[in-house]
Amino acid sequence: MFSHSESYDFVFVGAGASTSLLLMALHRRQLLSECKILILDGDSKLKNDKTYCFWAQKDEAILEHLEGVIGHQWSDIEVAGQSSKRLDNQVYARVSSLQLYEYIRTLAAKENWEIQKVDVSTVGSDSLGPWVEVDGQCIRCKRVLDSRPPGWQTPGRNDVHLWQSFAGWHIRTLKPCFEPSRFTMMDFEVPQEGNTQFVYVLPTSENEALVELTRFGKERINSEHAENELAAYILQQYGQVHVQEKEFGCIPMSSMRLPESGHQQIWNLGARAGLIKPSTGYAFKSMYEWSERAANQWLLTPYPAFKRKPRHAFYDKLLLGILQQEPEQGKPIFERLFATQSPEAVFRFLDEKMSLRNELQMLVRLPWSPFMRAIGRYHSNTLQAMVVTFFTLIFLVLGWVPSWQGLGAAILGVLGLALIGLPHGAVDHILETGSLRPSKLPAFIGEYMGKALVLAGVWYLFPVFGLGLFLIYSAWHFGQGDGETWAWSAGRSLAWGASVLLFLLGTHSEESSAIIQLLSGESWSLSLSPWLLFLWLPVAMKERNSAWVWTLVWLSLSSWLPLLIAFGLYFIGHHSWNGWKHITQRMKRSSTWVWKQSLPFHLGAWVLLGAFLWFWPNGHSEDALQWAAPFFIFLSCLSFPHVWAMHRFYSRFRNA
Ligand SMILES: Cc1cc2nc3c(=O)[nH]c(=O)nc-3n(C[C@H](O)[C@H](O)[C@H](O)COP(=O)(O)OP(=O)(O)OC[C@H]3O[C@@H](n4cnc5c(N)ncnc54)[C@H](O)[C@@H]3O)c2cc1C
Repeated sequence: MFSHSESYDFVFVGAGASTSLLLMALHRRQLLSECKILILDGDSKLKNDKTYCFWAQKDEAILEHLEGVIGHQWSDIEVAGQSSKRLDNQVYARVSSLQLYEYIRTLAAKENWEIQKVDVSTVGSDSLGPWVEVDGQCIRCKRVLDSRPPGWQTPGRNDVHLWQSFAGWHIRTLKPCFEPSRFTMMDFEVPQEGNTQFVYVLPTSENEALVELTRFGKERINSEHAENELAAYILQQYGQVHVQEKEFGCIPMSSMRLPESGHQQIWNLGARAGLIKPSTGYAFKSMYEWSERAANQWLLTPYPAFKRKPRHAFYDKLLLGILQQEPEQGKPIFERLFATQSPEAVFRFLDEKMSLRNELQMLVRLPWSPFMRAIGRYHSNTLQAMVVTFFTLIFLVLGWVPSWQGLGAAILGVLGLALIGLPHGAVDHILETGSLRPSKLPAFIGEYMGKALVLAGVWYLFPVFGLGLFLIYSAWHFGQGDGETWAWSAGRSLAWGASVLLFLLGTHSEESSAIIQLLSGESWSLSLSPWLLFLWLPVAMKERNSAWVWTLVWLSLSSWLPLLIAFGLYFIGHHSWNGWKHITQRMKRSSTWVWKQSLPFHLGAWVLLGAFLWFWPNGHSEDALQWAAPFFIFLSCLSFPHVWAMHRFYSRFRNA
């Protein structure tokens, strides 16, 4: 047994597939000859716990490099109801995990690598470098290769997390039933049971095969139930059989991003490094390819991070979303995929090695509607920001003829205010109770008007203080809406809300100064650059938040528009639209229902606004700046109780 005083060059935590493939790649390059190696695994790895399959071109190096562990290869395929086809210049290969583990044990014995059956409790680092903790002992080394399964935290609101679960039997039939050169990939002739379910048949002789029931589903398959399904399938297809071995397993299919190791000498491997392709569960060949890359740069410090191309992450998430929300669509989608594409083309697509043009040609042949619904479900924020970008560009073009720009803004502004701008703030009376309670209405209106009047009083008596208050709670409220959309902390939400507000005002300093002068009687100048907003851009890009990036794009464009149009785009196209989505989604009500509920207060707001502008000196002036000031005061008084109500609404759902 190791002692805490001992230190190693490399410690491998976990001795599964990824570690084995990396050790093979390093050994082939003789990169471990002079090194002290420790391999730790809580399991003795003496059982065949998994069967790994992958496809490859006949001349691909993987077939040569893994020759010693590949147990079988198939050259013909039967897939998703299609008749049997010869794979053109490709094979589907199988590696039994036990063969892989034994291969590594043999290498370890030859090369003096130390293997210990222990559970590692923690992997960490300090100023002296990385370490691994086992039974309270700290083992130090130059680099840790960590392949413990990733801890899947609770998926975020926009994440999709499914399980691919298997129940497989290695069977021996009484008479020859199989063609050893042909395997079956997705036989959907099993009950779907509200999931996407199919069977793999991987024969190794005329009488022997691994027959595996596979489920893509929200829940893991119940092994007893799965075995009954499998037994019925096997009995129907092959009659009585002898079951030689059983295999159960589960692969996460997740759009969630995995955390990084936090130290440049702690390298995550395999599933922990995000190498499982979310939409298929395949990882073996990616792990092989990653190991080759890692071995090639073994002596360099940077961790060869595995990065999926954004468009493939997008496709994966769409498919996962469909499989989660509309599992009955899985069978027709896969059947159509293989009916319109050769298996080799599908494999190339799954390997993420197809050209964009071919990908698009392939995707347009799939059933459109589930994909469109999935885009609406998971990418609505990006689509929304793209729509606002589109309108921002339209207004910029209209700017060549200012009267057209003004007319366009007036039409869209009134429409937008009537559809969501005012209604999103006119349903505060149902946010608490879920529906209109006539008995509670007088008290609600009294309290609401009371808060609005208090603020109006503040504006009247202390206009500068009123303005400050208005800016602070607007920043809070705008930030809170976006924070809810993107699941941010309160601090980040407030900082974002403040930077957006400063940007809108600061990039229109002449107009905002004039309005502020009218509102507070004070002149105003901003010492901070409003373009500080773009410090958020690298954060948005790092977090791959495309909706956020698009929002920054159209905000920057809006700096060339008049203040009222830029603010209108933000208020209606971004803030109110988001608030509307939160209200309808959380109350589980349709937009029409919520809009009807908003009508009394919404109409009341128009009447109040009209009256306010009518009675306010200069309120109906033709100079937009003249009425902008009273309009903002009116908006601030009306929005103050709304900000309060929305805060309570969001808090209630956060704490639920
Ligand atoms: C049943 C099944 C079948 C699959 N079939 C395929 C396939 O056909 N093709 C394909 O491409 N992909 C397949 N996959 C997906 C993927 O290839 C595998 O999940 C693969 O095993 C991932 O490799 P890994 O090294 O990340 O994890 P593993 O191979 O699971 O290795 C992790 C190792 O870490 C050990 N460990 C865990 N915690 C600790 C600890 N605290 N201390 C010490 N050791 C620890 C475990 O005992 C294990 O040996 C399959 C997955 C499953 C589950």
